[in-house]
Amino acid sequence: MSIKILLDKCTGCSLCVKACPFAAITMIDRPADAPGKGKKIAQIDLDVCTLCGACVPSCKFNAIDLKKDLGGGDIDLSHYKDVWVFAEQREGKVQSVAYELLSEGRQLAADCGSLLCAVLLGDASIEEEVDQLFKYGAQKVYLVTHPELKDYRTAPYTRALAEVVTKHKPEIILLGATTLGRDLAARLAIRVGAGLTADCTGLAIDPVKKHLLQTRPAFGGNIMATIQTIRHRPQMATVRTKVFKKSQIQNPKSQEGNVIRFTPVIDQNDLVVKLLDIIKDESVKVNLQDAEIIVSGGRGLGEAKNFKLIEELAAVLGGAVGASRATVDAGWISAHHQVGQTGKTVCPKLYIACGIAGKIQHLAGMQSSDTIVAINKDPDAPIFKVAHYGIVGDLFEYVPLLTKKIKELRG
Ligand SMILES: Cc1cc2nc3c(=O)[nH]c(=O)nc-3n(C[C@H](O)[C@H](O)[C@H](O)COP(=O)(O)OP(=O)(O)OC[C@H]3O[C@@H](n4cnc5c(N)ncnc54)[C@H](O)[C@@H]3O)c2cc1C
Repeated sequence: MSIKILLDKCTGCSLCVKACPFAAITMIDRPADAPGKGKKIAQIDLDVCTLCGACVPSCKFNAIDLKKDLGGGDIDLSHYKDVWVFAEQREGKVQSVAYELLSEGRQLAADCGSLLCAVLLGDASIEEEVDQLFKYGAQKVYLVTHPELKDYRTAPYTRALAEVVTKHKPEIILLGATTLGRDLAARLAIRVGAGLTADCTGLAIDPVKKHLLQTRPAFGGNIMATIQTIRHRPQMATVRTKVFKKSQIQNPKSQEGNVIRFTPVIDQNDLVVKLLDIIKDESVKVNLQDAEIIVSGGRGLGEAKNFKLIEELAAVLGGAVGASRATVDAGWISAHHQVGQTGKTVCPKLYIACGIAGKIQHLAGMQSSDTIVAINKDPDAPIFKVAHYGIVGDLFEYVPLLTKKIKELRG
């Protein structure tokens, strides 16, 4: 790994000084024998520089020469191809997030001029799910089977996936930002020396350089950062459930496609965790992510007991109850109901926000809902910027009115 300033290109503009987060670059007098006499020149303090590369794009004159390698010269990225979606399965069923990622991955693959592939891990019975992956647009499926892969455990899954990734070299790997996906992605990224961006809310391909543009909230959701993995492959991103919409079935008749079978070597040392039983937490009855209608309450409710109004409206609509974080933090409702950046990401057909301001962290979890209705007494509340229909008024008047009217209409 090395970095240096190219004397013949540096104009002494000092933009790189501002770009360096570690204050490793200073301007010094230009050596007498260097071109551009009289101008200052940038100097990098190699004891302070972390080789993060932040200075490189800031230089408009290509005067910073950064070479990174993983041992043995520059990395040749040309061997990496195709967009892979990790087809997360539980109890032998591919999860909805995988189909959502296939829907988004199709466009990415088209923009890269590569194939859309799914990678599915499980025991032999998981093969039944392969056809669905083709139906949802996968052009190739990497089927990785082993009895020890029936249910998820970190170590054997990481080892198996790392083996197949190292062999076939995908350019991009997308995983769901589920508990399983987050656990696996971090391990895998380290194992294969890849860059990983967690919890992306937008993905695209840079039209010129073809890097994956990975957008996610940063600094507590106050800005959206777009991250690129320039020097390493694969480019890995996790995306939460419901951030992308599951498209319609692409190939209804698909019975077969290109299946690449793979049996990994699973080391007994990787099986230190034994799965004895799977016990489901029956206390969690809220399924916000699959709800078609969600009625959410915010701090405008004033106190915990007023959530009753939200529950009544949700009940007549056959929907689920959501909440802002302010109400969860206040202890008015359990965290299972929280919608937003640190809660659930939802995408119902109808989202009714009652007494919710619509701060960016809340919007991050619900703004892709098909129809958003907001009830808020402040006409300038940010929720109205994303709402399709808005009622400027007191929720204590309008929520019971809506419940009454819908009850009447439904007989
Ligand atoms: C790192 C981080 C992560 C976060 N994650 C989340 C998250 O996942 N989800 C989330 O929701 N927030 C999250 N937040 C908090 C977020 O910034 C807001 O503080 C929160 O969403 C505010 O909740 P609220 O809209 O219910 O309350 P408020 O901001 O207090 O808004 C209450 C609204 O109710 C209206 N109102 C009051 N009385 C009435 C009435 N009688 N009738 C009608 N309207 C009324 C007011 O006009 C106001 O607009 C996060 C913050 C941070 C820093």
